[in-house]
Amino acid sequence: MKISGKTKVLGIIGRPVEHSLSPVMHNASIAELGLDYAYVPFHVEAEDLGTAVNGLRALGVKGFNVTIPHKTAVMPFLDKISPEAELSGAVNTVSRENNRLVGYNTDGTGLLKSLREDLNFNPAGASVLLMGAGGAARGALAALCTAGVSRVIIANRTETRGRELMESFMGKFNTVKFGISSIEPAELEAGLKSVDLLLNTTSVGMNGSAFAGINLAGMCHGAVIYDMVYSPPETPLLAAAASIGIPCANGIGMLAAQGEAAFSIWTGLEPPPGFMRKCLMNELQGQLSS
Ligand code: NAP
Repeated sequence: MKISGKTKVLGIIGRPVEHSLSPVMHNASIAELGLDYAYVPFHVEAEDLGTAVNGLRALGVKGFNVTIPHKTAVMPFLDKISPEAELSGAVNTVSRENNRLVGYNTDGTGLLKSLREDLNFNPAGASVLLMGAGGAARGALAALCTAGVSRVIIANRTETRGRELMESFMGKFNTVKFGISSIEPAELEAGLKSVDLLLNTTSVGMNGSAFAGINLAGMCHGAVIYDMVYSPPETPLLAAAASIGIPCANGIGMLAAQGEAAFSIWTGLEPPPGFMRKCLMNELQGQLSS
């Protein structure tokens, strides 16, 4: 990569940001397409968020990703918010357009693309058990409801948070039936019997952590499981699904697809199909073996 006076800057803001895989896949895509861009990580504390965004604005940065914990907090500092980001209540991609900072959310489209490509899952008319009620759950719910699911049960450890998420979507999607569950195994297993998709949006599964004793055997024939966690590549939930033949996928496809969408917003170009995913898998493989 040759940095010159014309090089356009892209980046990511978060805290922590050191672990982010985005610089690897974006810089590799920039090199693959021979573009004059560079993508850099910026560690930004919560109290510095406004100053940081205004600094990026003043420096003429072309675009940046936003990760934990700034996805919602960044919104007031932007000039325009896209409809899907507004619905999600979160921005993960900012693009400088005609000197205005525009916020997008590519997590939702990334999830839908990965569900389609990795599990051949079509959300239209489907019934979903959504585990979690944090930022990732909100983005997923916005994308799934927009894509026409018919029913969503939200299961969250803190039930009030699950209920709040449900209530914030109920008025917006009259055709979707909503319900609430605890994460107690017996109640979850009862809910699982009637869904087409079990979607884990919680951080459970990272570093091998697991939900207590959920038996997946009662899921319908044809139902699938998606875990947004991608490290380790096979979480205990995915291992349990695979052991009884339930089609399942981790969140690597979503991570790659949200990156492809952001790259395309900034550059107008797309990385070669599968390129970002391959970069991520190589990087994760390297981390696991080091
Ligand atoms: P968040 O806003 O902090 O929400 C965390 C969620 O996990 C909450 O619902 C929380 O429940 C639940 N949770 C945490 N620890 C738990 C435990 N021990 N038992 C049961 N539930 C627990 O985080 P987020 O932004 O939504 O991210 C969640 C996960 O999604 C992370 O692992 C993140 O890496 C992943 N993610 C992946 C992608 C991708 O591209 N693949 C994109 C976005 C996020 P409470 O409400 O009870 O605290």
